[in-house]
Parts: sequence; structure tokens; C-alpha cells
Amino acid sequence: MIISKKINDLVKKYHENKLSHAFLLVTNDINKCNKDIMELIKEISCPNKYQDACQDCNLCYQIENDVIPNIKKIYPDGQQIKKSQILELKEQFKTKPLYVANNIYIINNAEKLNSAAANTMLKFLEEPENSILGFFVTTNKEAMLETIKSRCQIIYNPYDNENITEILNLTDQQLEEFTEIAKEYLPKLINKTEDGIYLNKKYILSVFTEREQIIKFYNYLYWQISEKINSPQKQRELDFWKNIAFAKLLKIQKALFNVLESSLFNVNIELLLDNFALEMEKL
Ligand SMILES: [Zn+2]
Repeated sequence: MIISKKINDLVKKYHENKLSHAFLLVTNDINKCNKDIMELIKEISCPNKYQDACQDCNLCYQIENDVIPNIKKIYPDGQQIKKSQILELKEQFKTKPLYVANNIYIINNAEKLNSAAANTMLKFLEEPENSILGFFVTTNKEAMLETIKSRCQIIYNPYDNENITEILNLTDQQLEEFTEIAKEYLPKLINKTEDGIYLNKKYILSVFTEREQIIKFYNYLYWQISEKINSPQKQRELDFWKNIAFAKLLKIQKALFNVLESSLFNVNIELLLDNFALEMEKL
């Protein structure tokens, strides 16, 4: 299995003793994300020098098979993650970890923590112990309590955005910014609301000050839409793409492609935005 680059960074941080004690992983593939977390746990626990998919040691085998009592995975019980589940976790983690260096919890669909559970969790997060490592995994960061988010190191979309962050050389913060801007910008543009098409240029120029940022942003949009086109049935983080007809998606992709192509020829940025708006108007 190829370990996500971000997970590798965490391993490095762990060995440098710089690892946070709680993480929020924003993803759209919970299972895949769990696999990566398990790889991370193996990496930091394996008594042999860990190699990809260590088959040789007992410990990695046990981690892989979810039989280590110090590693606790929590899933929603019905529609919610309940307080009793968190209390049980706390009770279990009162004892020092036996087989691995840390007591580790993974809370899946963390946006489903109900408020009583979240409050219990909060107390847990406020008094972190060195021996506890926590992972919150969510597909919907917006639905999560601010108080929990603020206590976690946020790792954005470890899969789907891995390539884009590398290709476009984006920081996690930039990626988050772009996602927010796109959320506001695209629905307006696509639904051809007045301020969408006609203020297209004005809007972009109001949020970005540099040409380079604008091009990066359009690259980001192009990447997002291409992903959507390549995997139409897959749930995307940017769910506004979901309600757009496939043929339309292809046209938007083409319009974005034209922007990016023109950008290579040093075309004036305002002209570029005008051309994009024109193409979008034809949709
Ligand atoms: Zn091992």
C-alpha cells in the first residue's frame, strides 16, 4: 500500500517528538483514510524497521487485524456517536498502553458526535495525555463543532487533494481558502445569477490580488472538475458539482482549460477572465 505523503510527514514528526495529540482528517473516503491511519500506527509501533506492508512481525499483524485493545475505532451507533461510546473509550484509556506506545482512538464520521458526546470528548481533548493519540475522521468538516476542530491539527483530504497540493504547490491553508472561495463563486457562475456572470471578473479580482493566485485558483477548479468527470459516481468534497449535468461539466472543464492554456501565453488577466465569462455564458 502506498502511504499517503501526509501520513509520512506525520511519522517523521512523531520521531521528532513534534506530533500533535489530536488530528482531524477531512476526507471523502473514510475507509481508505482508516487504512492509512493503521499504516501510520504500524510505522510508529513496528519493532522491526517498518517496511511497506510489514508481514513479518506479530505486532503489525495484530494492528492490521484490529486486535490491539489500545487502538479503538469508533463508528456512529445508528445516526449518532453517543456519549456512552466516549465514556467507554475514556475508561479503557485510563490504563497505560500495553502493546503500542500510545493509546489511540479513531473517531469515524466525527461530525456525528452528538453534543453530549462532543462535550465529553472536549474534556478529553483539553487535558491531553502524552500517551494518547487521537484521530477524528470526517467527510463533513463544516458540520463539526468548532471547539473540537480548534483543538485538532487539521489534515485536509489526504487522498483527493494529495496530487493537487503537490502539483500546484499549495499549502493546506491555501487549499482550504480555495475551497471556500470556490463554494461561493461556482454556484453563482453556473446558475448564471446576475452577480455570477457579470461580476465574474470583479469577484475574482476582489478576492485575489495576484495573477499567479488567479491562475492557481483556476488550476484548482480545473483539477476538481476533472476529478468529478473521471469519477462521476463518487461523492466529491465540493458537492456543488453533483447537481450539474455531465455535459455541462465537460463544457465548464473546456472553458477552464482555455483559461489555463491562454495563461501560458501571458494573456492579460482581465481579458482572460472576460473570455472565461463569455464561455460560461454560452452554457
Ligand atoms: Zn512490523
